[in-house]
Parts: sequence; structure tokens; C-alpha cells
Amino acid sequence: MHRVYCDANATTPLLPEVLESMRPYWIEEFGNASSIHLAGQQARKAVDEARETLAHFFNCRDAEVVFNSGGTEGDNTAIFGLMRAGDHFITTSIEHSAVLRAADRVAARGVEVTFVGPTKDGLIDPEEIRRAIVAETRRSDSSRTLVSVMLANNETGVLQPVEEIGKIAAETGAYFHIDAVQGAGKVAFDVERFGCHLCSISAHKMHGPKGVGAMYVRRGTPVESLIVGGSHERRHRAGTLNVPGIVGCGKAAELAMKSLKDGTVEKVAALRDRLEAGILKITGTGVNGAGAPRAVNTTNIRFEQVEGEALVIALDLKGVAVSGGSACHSGSTEPSHVLMAMGIDKNAARASLRFSLLKTATDEDVDYVLKVVPEAVERLRALSPVATGTLG
Ligand code: PLP
Repeated sequence: MHRVYCDANATTPLLPEVLESMRPYWIEEFGNASSIHLAGQQARKAVDEARETLAHFFNCRDAEVVFNSGGTEGDNTAIFGLMRAGDHFITTSIEHSAVLRAADRVAARGVEVTFVGPTKDGLIDPEEIRRAIVAETRRSDSSRTLVSVMLANNETGVLQPVEEIGKIAAETGAYFHIDAVQGAGKVAFDVERFGCHLCSISAHKMHGPKGVGAMYVRRGTPVESLIVGGSHERRHRAGTLNVPGIVGCGKAAELAMKSLKDGTVEKVAALRDRLEAGILKITGTGVNGAGAPRAVNTTNIRFEQVEGEALVIALDLKGVAVSGGSACHSGSTEPSHVLMAMGIDKNAARASLRFSLLKTATDEDVDYVLKVVPEAVERLRALSPVATGTLG
């Protein structure tokens, strides 16, 4: 059966070059990057090179790159590492659960937490962030304000105006963290331009290995490490370095930067646009977040009178992997918190699917998806009591 993986926002496969770059560091060059002998030096050199690549990726100094286990750890570090009782944490209601659950936890520890909601297109209005900062109720001279906003939403792909938010953070003296997990490899990065103090990315969303990521930590940001122990990563993150993972993360970042320049991103955008236009030919469909700028690989489409989960399964049986809501919510029948926050009603949210293309996607992939989606939708609608009106 033809198989098309349209769930790149959940994870991506390693590119062969990434696997090759990691290979020596499992067996031949297995040293601990903290050891002073030759094996250790070889490992250290590989980590240093990866750090240099990530510094180039973020546009920061090498010393401002901290390797970690991925997006969840980066998000948690920003929030737990900066927020203390009496501080103010401002985020949005459409963040990933790595931010939302951390927000719940710091709220229980005496941090004032404000959630800013999106427009109907899934965009965060920077002025709402400013209002939340200005409306602080507990400000004392030593209290901190942290703003955390994602670069690209994992479900809709909507790109948030992080530069404007960065300017507001600078004007008001707030710290600013960007969850850039879904932006990495899809939009050009520049932490100077973003105006952030902290920025989290994850290798597995950009064809790197799972369980490894990196964080930009602006020099002087008083973020406490989440994991304590040895003095690794300039005391920002204890634990023996995952050398093969870090090397793979570096290679993935290098290839991601290349993709932004060599036409790959434009190719993916054209495929996504064709996919979207083709699906929209089916009656009773619409794009969630259509009016906002979006990551080039993502489209989130609602299918009236279709049960989203049933469509995910029907497409899977035809070899097409898509997702309803975020992968972290799979197995749950709760409609997406992102779509609900955009004012989309429960039924429409449940009837929405996310298609997210890999950068290796082809025209044939899109042709195949456009063949099977209309068939599956038609079949499900024919069976649906809602569609046939038998529910009365
Ligand atoms: N933030 C966003 C926006 C994500 O999409 C994800 C993963 O789905 C994460 C954070 C978590 O990243 P990781 O899987 O590396 O822990």
C-alpha cells in the first residue's frame, strides 16, 4: 500500500545524513565529553561543533546554547527556572501542554498566571500581552514577569508575532521565552530579532533524534537549572552529555538552515497549498486559522458531519497518517483546546484534522492524499446519522 506520513508536527524521521553523523559516537567515539583523555576530547570536540552550529541556528553565542532532552524540558526550564512565588507568568491558552501544565504547577506555588486567548484565526494580539503585563497586581521591586509564547502552533501552524511581543517585553522589563519547537526548520530564526531571553527547540521535529533538544539562554538570564548534579552545560543542565544525540541535533539544525535557503521550504509551501486547495473542494470543509500567517507545512481542516477520529482511522487504513489535535491528546476524546480557544465549537473541533507535511514530501504524496481523503469523507458521511438526518 502507498503510505504517506502527514504528521510531521508529531515527529519526523531522521534524515540519513543525521544518522550518519551520529553513528561514530555510539561505539568508536563513545567518550564522556567531560573526560580529559583522548576519548573524552573527541566527544567534546563533537559537542563543541554541534554547539557552534546551534549558535549559528539561533544567532547567539556558543555559550548561550544549552543542550537538553527536548521541547518539554526547555519549556519547563524556562518556567520553573524563572518563576517564584509572587512572580507573574503570562502565556497563552493555545500553548503546548509542556507550557500549560507547568503554568498550572507554578500557579499552585503562588505565581500569578495569566492566559491570553487568541483571535478567531488563532493569533495572539501583542497588545493583549502588554495589557497583561501592565495589569500586574502583585508587582514588587524584586518580582519577575515572564512571558511565554510559541513561535508556531503545533495544531494550526499559526505563526505568532513574537517580534512584536519581544519588543513589548523589552519595553516593560519582562523576560520572554519562545517555545519554538514547531517553528524550527520552518521559519528563519534569530533570537536577537525575536527579542527573547529563552528559546526552546527539539531535534525530533526537524529530522533529528528524539529525546534531545537545545535551548537558547541569553547571557545573564537568571534561570535556575531544572536538573542539578555535575557542572555540565555551564551549570544550566546537569547530566552526562548525550553526545550522539547532540551531534544529531547539530546536523539536523544544519540541514534545517539549508532547507530555509535552498527552495525546500517554498516547495513544501506549494505542496501544502495544493493539498489544502484540493481538500477544500470537498463540500463542508474549512481551514482553521486560514486568516493568519502559518507554518508552511501545516493545514488544519474541519470536515462538517464527520467524526474526526473516524476519519483518522479511515485514512490510516489507506496508508495516510494524520492527526486530530495534538499527538499528546490522542486517545482522548476531548476536543482540541487550541481550536476551542479560537471559538470553534466542540463538534467542529472534533471534526478537524491536522495535515502536516514532511520536508521530504512529494507531488505523488499529495496526489495520493487527495485521492483517498474525498473517498473516506464521502463514505463516513454516508454512514453518519448526523449527515443522513436519521438522528431527527
Ligand atoms: N512544544 C510544542 C509546540 C510541541 O509541538 C511539542 C511537541 O509536540 C513540544 C513542545 C514538546 O517537545 P518534545 O517532544 O521535544 O518534548
